[in-house]
Amino acid sequence: MKDLKVSARFIKGVGPSRLGILNKIGIETVEDLLYCFPRRHEDRSRIKKVGEIRPGNFETIKAKVLTFGDRMSKRGMNIFQVAVGDSTGVIHATWFNQPYMKDKFKIGQELILYGRVERYNYLQMNNPEYEILTGTKEDFVHMGRIVPVYPLTANLNQRWFRNIMKFTVDNYADGVSEILPYEMRKRNNLMELGEAVRNIHFPVSEVVLKNARDRIIFDEFLILQTGMALKRASIKMDMTGYSHEIEGDLINKFKISLPFQLTRSQSKVIKEIEEDMKSPKPMNRLLQGDVGSGKTIVALYAIILTVQNGYQAALMAPTEILAEQHYRNISALVKELGIRAMILSGDLKEEERRRRRHMIEIGEADIVIGTHALIQEGVSFKKLGLAVIDEQHKFGVLQRALLKSKSANPDILVMTATPIPRTLALAVYGDMDVSVIDELPPGRGGIKTLFFEEKNREKAYAIAEEQVKIGRQVYVVYPIIDESEKSDLRAAIKMHKDLSGRFPDLKVGLLHGRMKSKEKEAVMHDFKDHKIDILVSTIVVEVGVDISNASTMIVEHAERFGLSQLHQLRGRIGRDKHISYCILVSDPKTDDAKRRISAMLKTQDGFKIAEEDLEIRGPGEFFGTRQHGLPELKIANIIRDRAILETAKEEALDLIKRDRFLRLPENRMIPESLLSKFTRDDLELASVG
Ligand code: ADP
Ligand code: MG
Repeated sequence: MKDLKVSARFIKGVGPSRLGILNKIGIETVEDLLYCFPRRHEDRSRIKKVGEIRPGNFETIKAKVLTFGDRMSKRGMNIFQVAVGDSTGVIHATWFNQPYMKDKFKIGQELILYGRVERYNYLQMNNPEYEILTGTKEDFVHMGRIVPVYPLTANLNQRWFRNIMKFTVDNYADGVSEILPYEMRKRNNLMELGEAVRNIHFPVSEVVLKNARDRIIFDEFLILQTGMALKRASIKMDMTGYSHEIEGDLINKFKISLPFQLTRSQSKVIKEIEEDMKSPKPMNRLLQGDVGSGKTIVALYAIILTVQNGYQAALMAPTEILAEQHYRNISALVKELGIRAMILSGDLKEEERRRRRHMIEIGEADIVIGTHALIQEGVSFKKLGLAVIDEQHKFGVLQRALLKSKSANPDILVMTATPIPRTLALAVYGDMDVSVIDELPPGRGGIKTLFFEEKNREKAYAIAEEQVKIGRQVYVVYPIIDESEKSDLRAAIKMHKDLSGRFPDLKVGLLHGRMKSKEKEAVMHDFKDHKIDILVSTIVVEVGVDISNASTMIVEHAERFGLSQLHQLRGRIGRDKHISYCILVSDPKTDDAKRRISAMLKTQDGFKIAEEDLEIRGPGEFFGTRQHGLPELKIANIIRDRAILETAKEEALDLIKRDRFLRLPENRMIPESLLSKFTRDDLELASVG
């Protein structure tokens, strides 16, 4: 077999300086080149004549340079144009502010142009992709076939890169060894890997290209799913948890003391949790429910069950404010039951902190509430029976830390307001069981979402004023992109000042991330007790905050928030029987920003919002793959390719079931691929590979 790990400088056309540039985009070896997949393909087997192309479409044409030149626009922009034509017509290729373009062309040259066709007085393509044909045999790499277009930086030119790729594929693709067992390949109708690599670069037809892509996507998913299955297996091996009694005095008293009746969804989820807790296998459950659907009480139910059985429970929230709120609510609910709840907040004095940690260690605290720092710092519990992780979309890493750090195996309940389609949840969260609360508690007045341009901000204030007059409270949220950006903070502080001036008779409060925990707590208390009418705040109120008298949420610079964030913010209101207003104030400039705002106006369904968000941001960013500790996918897309994902997942589970350590000869190539994405420690594959 050919060695694909040799340096890319062995490729014809790659000299020392180009090698340097390749290195910069992460290509060191011939193998790296082979796995640098095209961004897209262009079908140049059917290049059009100028006379055939249609305005509005993306088209590829071949034509001769007739003339070219540049000029200045009235606004001082350099406009460079090449007129090209064939026997059927003429079209202008236009580039803006790139005067150096004029050195690139000669009259009579043949060009390939790709771009969107516009019609002015004449046909035009703005900033098209172009290639100059040389009239040599080499042109056939770039012409008369489906050609790859690579994701390249400015320093690299498509034509050059395509030439070296052609050389690489012709000379090295036969060195790609198959990694999948023959049976698996047959079962799923998969193209051989070498052939797939060859055809993903220079496909012989669209159909073959699709098969090649599907094969490579399958591999990506298989490796991902196998890796996750092994991770899970390494965590769960020989793992037994606690088998709890689910009946008892404590839980009965709790049920009776509830200030409301549980919704049907809540009861259903509680049943599921009871089943988990009865079983000796540790619970590993994801609880999904839109903002305001009442997840906390469900978690509290699990907590009380745990305490009733003599174990401790930890509840972790993403922010101090939220931890504090949970502490307040939960203390109130469990006081009568003789349960000891404690908060470990960030700003405790060292001595007090030590005292509380000691109490946790000797089992004098039943429920411990804090931020995620609780696990990160490795607080030790006498007998931790349950860990609840609230509002955490990025908990994978945390969860692992928790499971690995403790000798015992507590139940785990993760709560999230980000609704994820079930198949995706399974792909991303591995084998967590998923529960869903899919209804809101009854008796809510509903939310009206409004949008005002900046210049109409006063209209938003008028609504706020009106609401305060009838006894409601108002949030005004201001974006802070980065806590270290002082100017943003200043803007929020200024906003507070401006609003205090605008509403001289009202009490306007201020809350931001730079305040000490104690100060934030005090402000939240005041808001809760209605000592503040209007709370100007940074995004710290995003998650979880529950103050039902607040009926209005004004979001300033709404374009600067992500869609999920906006939805979370809207979730802070509409928590009572009165009608609520979510008011987005913004002059959105980008298409994405406009889409986010119109999605907010269109729907309140968290599921739809999540789907839209996924589409706008793409799955990588949506799930924060990196935080999950999941490897990046090169061409596979968990939304678009979910059917392949499902198959790959089944194959992965089957593989692990039959060959846990991947020692069988037919599986011998898999560990190496795994180890390029996961660490040996993750997989406990030390004995192989
Ligand atoms: P989230 O799911 O966003 O965390 P919370 O648990 O904060 O929602 O609940 C939102 C509000 O709804 C809280 O004030 C809570 O007390 C209330 N609530 C929860 N369940 C019910 C119910 N079954 N009936 C009425 N109100 C409820
Ligand atoms: Mg919550």
